[in-house]
Amino acid sequence: MATVQRRCPGKAGRECGTRFRVPSQSRRRFCEVCSPPRFRESAEPPPPVATEDPGPGPIEVAVAAELDRTGRAGTIEGVALLSLARDADRLPAERRAAVIEKLLRVKAVALAGVRAAGPDPVDDIARKRAERMASA
Ligand SMILES: [Zn+2]
Repeated sequence: MATVQRRCPGKAGRECGTRFRVPSQSRRRFCEVCSPPRFRESAEPPPPVATEDPGPGPIEVAVAAELDRTGRAGTIEGVALLSLARDADRLPAERRAAVIEKLLRVKAVALAGVRAAGPDPVDDIARKRAERMASA
């Protein structure tokens, strides 16, 4: 692509004089300092749009599942626990330990008196394995 050299006249009363090269069909009169390139003139990919919410992290997922299973999801302690779990997933590592410690304390309260509802997951896996072996 043919390029031409231009000399920036400066903008807003400022002297510039920077020489710059542009494609010969470009109408750019100013250097990139005086007039940062508009988006469509740049070959760079668009800046990333605000990243989407990554969704619940592993601790939140585990806590939410436990609250669901135990029917404590709507309790004050349950909500507090979930909020701590969210923090524990999102905070930087150096602040996470304290939150997890608090989370475990609240968990003891939130799930106090809960008896394991339904089959124990480990038992469940063992039972399914036994069934598979029986039907094989
Ligand atoms: Zn300039």
